[in-house]
Amino acid sequence: MPIATVNPANGETLRTFDPLGEAEIERRLAAADTAFRQYRTTGFAERARLMEHAAELLDEDRQDIARTMTVEMGKPVTAARAEAAKCAKAMRWYAAHAEELLADEHPSPDDVRDSGASRAHVHYRPLGAVLAVMPWNFPLWQVVRFAAPALMAGNVGLLKHASNVPQTAMYLEGLFRRAGFPEGCFQTLLVGAAAVEPILRDPRVAAATLTGSEPAGRSVASIAGDAVKRTVLELGGSDPYLVMPSADVVRAARTAVTARAQNNGQSCIAAKRFIVHADVYEEFAERFTVGMRDLTVGDPLRESTDIGPLASRQGRADLEELVDDAVRQGADVLCGGGRPERLDPELRGGWFYAPTVLTGITPAMRIHHEETFGPVATLYRVEGLDEAVELANDTPFGLSSNVWTRDPDEARRCVRDLQAGGVFFNGMTASHPALPFGGIKHSGYGRELAGHGIREFCNATTVWYGPDPLGTTFRETA
Ligand code: NAP
Repeated sequence: MPIATVNPANGETLRTFDPLGEAEIERRLAAADTAFRQYRTTGFAERARLMEHAAELLDEDRQDIARTMTVEMGKPVTAARAEAAKCAKAMRWYAAHAEELLADEHPSPDDVRDSGASRAHVHYRPLGAVLAVMPWNFPLWQVVRFAAPALMAGNVGLLKHASNVPQTAMYLEGLFRRAGFPEGCFQTLLVGAAAVEPILRDPRVAAATLTGSEPAGRSVASIAGDAVKRTVLELGGSDPYLVMPSADVVRAARTAVTARAQNNGQSCIAAKRFIVHADVYEEFAERFTVGMRDLTVGDPLRESTDIGPLASRQGRADLEELVDDAVRQGADVLCGGGRPERLDPELRGGWFYAPTVLTGITPAMRIHHEETFGPVATLYRVEGLDEAVELANDTPFGLSSNVWTRDPDEARRCVRDLQAGGVFFNGMTASHPALPFGGIKHSGYGRELAGHGIREFCNATTVWYGPDPLGTTFRETA
């Protein structure tokens, strides 16, 4: 895949980049190694000062970087600005909380004595250079939610971003440099996917995190497994959205539109399968379909646009195949089902797809099992919660889930039974710096954000002292 900015709204190539050669990659790996040796010894206060400065700069740059994101991958510019603001918030959150999240952990005095120690505790240390292989769909957020905790823990970062968002990738390296992080602490490697293996195998790289598709995750995880390096995988999702009779159906339907259509439908945690109780099915289906049909599809740089183009020609072709397969096998199209009929002439070369709702889905259809990465919803009718949960779990994925109910017993059963990394009630799944994020099954493993995320790339070091050889006043941090 060429490393290039190609505007998805019209198909025009705006900039192309040569991938880094071997010598430059080597120079950058050496810089990461050198930076880590010094940076790991800095304190939380210094790291927090730098991270807060990065957040301030990002706030100042919001308009420009939002436009860059939109031109590179097609998200509505309003959403791009919100993404930049969210990144600054996460940076500030980790700047404020990293020290307490990584504070030493002390076993009980009885357990310390039982281990034969005079004192013992767990101390979190950084691992080293972490390679982040990232996707284009939230080109700032995916990176920041790795970089903010990793840097606050004392690690250094190497970013291999998706090949279609090179300008956003370079912006991120510049942002951390301008904020004052030492040279080598955060570097962007403009390379294609084939360059990942040798970089990951390099002894100076300690671990990897990948957000992206299942095939990419399998490949990186198997290389990392062979090289015995830790990984976090955030892969695809096909999140269920359950609506039960006690729900506020009007709100459930309105929120469902946002949950499905956010980011032009290209979000791992977008609700994709809408599983609705028969008692409220007709009302929900009507409201949801109208809501999807009424979305404004068009130029993502326009403030009033709800849905821009898909990020790539291939992405649209993949989505078209899934919908066409379902329709061929008898699915009903409630709205959409193809490319939008009315588009401004200057957008005709863009990769647009109309918001689509399908019903009559059967397990024989690919769309029943595969992720739809675009504004396409599948709608199912069920007779009760057991059937809803069974259908919700009938997927290879397990990222998040959404449930609309006011019944406490139903809520308890959903928390117990839904196979996913999250259960969001009477709302839609969204990430927040204080809440762990990640999945099970083919959605990946490990967690990002919160304390879980910052500890993924730390060495939980057991510190054990025998009968007081260092004196009672000894303190490691003194
Ligand atoms: P992708 O094709 O897997 O690309 C993601 C990243 O992996 C890119 O940097 C890509 O580089 C690289 N890559 C691809 N194949 C690779 C390989 N064999 N070895 C090493 N690196 C490889 O995914 P995408 O199309 O950009 O993103 C969409 C997918 O990401 C969806 O499935 C979505 O659900 C998932 N996603 C998951 C989360 C989550 O948090 N769980 C969040 C966002 C997206 P190139 O661009 O150079 O090919």
